[in-house]
Amino acid sequence: MSDCIFCNIAGGKRSARILHEDDDCMAFEDVNPQAPVHFLVIPKKHIETVLDGDENILGKLLYTASRIAESKDLGKDGFRTVVNCRRHAGQSVDHLHVHVMGGRWFKWPPG
Ligand code: 5GP
Ligand code: ZN
Repeated sequence: MSDCIFCNIAGGKRSARILHEDDDCMAFEDVNPQAPVHFLVIPKKHIETVLDGDENILGKLLYTASRIAESKDLGKDGFRTVVNCRRHAGQSVDHLHVHVMGGRWFKWPPG
């Protein structure tokens, strides 16, 4: 997918602050952070949404997200993971990604 920004990051054609890379996935800092720590974990392969991933990649993304969060010292106080799927969730990049946000308190539910 040459017009997909996350495929371009995965392929080294678009710059990003990379935190992790292995055969299946990649993690990099979100360009518009919503928390002191905010990074994204993506499959290298173009998969549009969480509905399109198999159990192996979905498991690997969450496992990788958790290990990186731990390595960034978020283990003790915790962190939030978010996966937006399609329109009602406001998914703005149609390449599956797990948000990991930490370093501040998150109120849930809002309001
Ligand atoms: P979504 O709304 O689809 O769940 O989240 C997309 C995320 O990707 C947003 O938090 C946005 O800031 C981030 N993002 C969009 N374009 C880029 C980019 O070119 N580089 C990086 N590092 N993050 C991006
Ligand atoms: Zn893609």
